[in-house]
Amino acid sequence: MSSATAGAATQPSAAPLRVALLGLGTVGREVARALAERAPDLAAASGGRGLTLAAVGVREPRRDRGLPLSPTIPVTDDLAAVATGRAAPVDVVVELLGGVEPAGELVTAALDGGAAVVTANKALLARRGAALEGHVRRLGGTLRFEAAVGGGLPILGPLGRDLAADRWQAVTGILNGTTNYILCHMDLHGASYADALAGAQAAGYAEADPSGDVEGRDAADKLAILIRFAFGAWPDVAAIRRAPPALDGDGDPGITGVTAALLQVARREGLVMRLVAHAERTRGGEVNAWVMPAAVRADSGLGRTEWVDNRLELEGEPVGRVAIGGPGAGGPATSSAVLGDLLAIARGEGSSWSGLPPAPATPIQPVDHLGPARRWLIADPPGDGFSSIRTVAQLRDELRGDGYQATLFPSLDEAR
Ligand code: NAP
Repeated sequence: MSSATAGAATQPSAAPLRVALLGLGTVGREVARALAERAPDLAAASGGRGLTLAAVGVREPRRDRGLPLSPTIPVTDDLAAVATGRAAPVDVVVELLGGVEPAGELVTAALDGGAAVVTANKALLARRGAALEGHVRRLGGTLRFEAAVGGGLPILGPLGRDLAADRWQAVTGILNGTTNYILCHMDLHGASYADALAGAQAAGYAEADPSGDVEGRDAADKLAILIRFAFGAWPDVAAIRRAPPALDGDGDPGITGVTAALLQVARREGLVMRLVAHAERTRGGEVNAWVMPAAVRADSGLGRTEWVDNRLELEGEPVGRVAIGGPGAGGPATSSAVLGDLLAIARGEGSSWSGLPPAPATPIQPVDHLGPARRWLIADPPGDGFSSIRTVAQLRDELRGDGYQATLFPSLDEAR
């Protein structure tokens, strides 16, 4: 970093914190706007240290984005120059590009150059978290990523600080607003999956290629980060189950196999379907993790989490059950978490995990015991309803002989 020294970003000082921004999309634009329009507020919130936008990296630097950026701030497509301080001296690089590369190499280059890094990139952290954590700890650097889980919701901060004394038994949540929107639309308007997906795309809640959301990969990435914070180790994200079991093998991934008929069956029982991400500590010390459409009571916390909201429920000792809910995505809400990380760095706080013991260098392999379902919602043929037989193996034995091709959705219908 040309004029920032290693660790400088973690020491409070009167000099403004120089912020470089990679990406001016949905989130980056809101961060840039806040740095330009709310400078006095942010300086006051940091304890007196100002935050200034020093440089911006985007794909198309000349595009007018309607932002109040000073003409003296370099805006370039040379992302490496921004990340390494060649475009302008910087203390913190904020990576808001998305995707594993080139984001990963830019984050590493920024850290190696002595800058702190803030990112919202769950795809990068879920795949490279263990290696990145080791690298940052060896460097004595700072990496913060509150926005990577739950958008604007404060989740990693409380887990890594105020709740760091707790021993967690389970984390269960709705971590993807796009799929929640689609399921709510299907449930409340009787829409087909295809129509609800098209509606979510028209409303700007689903991307043109929605597969990362609807197949559960985005929620699994966030669950992987939560597992590191709740259970102390980064998991192999590819091993997190994302498809419900079927009598022969697995059903379709994420919410892609959920039908309007299935939602009606659930409704008759006072249940609604949600894409649930769940991880729990097993008696043997393993981490049981999955992301699946599950039936939950309509009047429960998860059932009342509608449209693009997210909710996380944590069960641990000594605190008991804690729930955090609210806007899990969107530019303004997500910028709140990014700005919070910038203020933390301006105040001299460390990485997101700094209140926790170091994670092992090698990711753990999660198991998928499919708990804690007490019964199963059976689809295909639709309308058959529930079975209270507890295990998938028993269900398979019972139903296979009848020629069923059923998909089995877990029902978490205890009060939650
Ligand atoms: P986005 O709207 O697609 O914006 C991405 C920005 O990065 C754009 O400005 C784009 O430049 C730039 N960019 C991407 N790849 C680039 C490349 N190879 N070279 C140069 N510029 C590149 O994304 P977003 O929704 O803001 O998401 C950013 C990050 O926040 C992602 O990691 C995402 O997972 C995370 N996040 C998003 C939300 C949300 O609600 N959107 C919530 C939580 C976390 P151009 O503008 O020039 O194309």
